[in-house]
Amino acid sequence: MAQRFYSTNSPGTYVDLKEAVLRSLPPDNGLYMPERVPKLGDEFWNHWRDWPFAELGYRIVSPLLDGAVPEEVLRSMVEDAINFDAPLVPLEENEYVLELFHGPTLAFKDFGARFMARLMGWLTRDDGRELTVLVATSGDTGGAVASAFHDVPGTRVVILYPRGKVSGLQEKQLTTLGGNITALEVEGTFDDCQRLVKAAFLDRELSERLNLTSANSINIARLIPQSFYYFHAARQLPEGTVPVFVVPSGNFGNLTAGLLAERMGLPVRHFIAATNRNDVVPSYLASGEYQPRPSVPTISNAMDVGAPSNFARMQEIYGKEWKRMTERIAGYAFDDEQTRAGIRELQAACGYQMDPHGAVGFLAAEEWRVLHPEDVAVVLETAHPAKFLDVMVEELGEGAVEIPERLACLAHREKVAIAMEADEEKFLGWLQQGD
Ligand SMILES: *Cc1c(COP(=O)(O)O)cnc(C)c1O
Repeated sequence: MAQRFYSTNSPGTYVDLKEAVLRSLPPDNGLYMPERVPKLGDEFWNHWRDWPFAELGYRIVSPLLDGAVPEEVLRSMVEDAINFDAPLVPLEENEYVLELFHGPTLAFKDFGARFMARLMGWLTRDDGRELTVLVATSGDTGGAVASAFHDVPGTRVVILYPRGKVSGLQEKQLTTLGGNITALEVEGTFDDCQRLVKAAFLDRELSERLNLTSANSINIARLIPQSFYYFHAARQLPEGTVPVFVVPSGNFGNLTAGLLAERMGLPVRHFIAATNRNDVVPSYLASGEYQPRPSVPTISNAMDVGAPSNFARMQEIYGKEWKRMTERIAGYAFDDEQTRAGIRELQAACGYQMDPHGAVGFLAAEEWRVLHPEDVAVVLETAHPAKFLDVMVEELGEGAVEIPERLACLAHREKVAIAMEADEEKFLGWLQQGD
């Protein structure tokens, strides 16, 4: 039987793939989980080192979805989505960086967003009407989602971003694609953008008629493809090496995808949750008390999360037992001073430039290796350092970080955005009209 999904708040009640992906968030406010997580078999382990990356991904997602998408469709979906590499780069002895920034928007979010876009397009192919994807963004997510859905047939994307509050290049990533992507420049804050999106979903009639869906990071379709690169990292290590994965974390989708990979049979020594001062999960691992709180701003701002949305999935995986989670995941947190020092140290010791998020991971790996010097650590580098150029220039000086062409060329593209007041009536009125 094709894979089914349940909400962490309602075990025993299942929905199919289409409902889980298009709803994104279950009505009971839990998170969708697959009913069964299969162990990969001999056929996989006999060949996993030889397949191209996309084929490896297909061989992982195929048993997981278990027929929910026809095999040939699924294979071409993965090939289309994962059309860039995730190379493992040696840093120093027993320490590697997994570069997850080789996709179109230079952050690991491309993996999840590109797969989700294609899957949503396919799931709604016979609905006879366009799918409208609404996203509020404070920066990175909007760019990955816009790029992922660009030119996907049958989909239209509306991105809301706060005027003057995203970086220049981030804004260009949202506003220069055209076609099926529309950017709304909201006269307000990120919270205003989220409020407008929520108002649209609460309007049942409108939401039904426009076939509205959300592309937020808790979507199960974003989580699944993120498990691919854990396998891809492991197979780039010397045969037989069982790595420690160090994951710079905010909402913990990335780390949860690693837990999924492990449940499918990937040998992992340990997981390390690395955060900035927003250390709700490292604190929980240390004390057993889960205390979400408002986030504080840092230089690794994609990890400024005070109530990590995937925590419910992590708990589910360990049967809500704190002790069991601590046996598999260690937590470390670092402040901005330490992160900046880490960026400088990496440059001086290894000649490697790591963005502030990756640098938090590097610091965690160093700390772990003091106690476990024999372990082989793989640090996930979640974004290209050029995306955080201000900090990089402050620490390493002008010119230390090369700006990739696909980011640099955006500077010359023309911004097209529709100005929007932070007013629910006006926004809903605009949505009604089409555009
Ligand atoms: C989103 C993001 C993170 C946090 O990932 P989670 O899956 O939310 O833990 C880390 N680094 C960068 C650069 C990001 O964009």
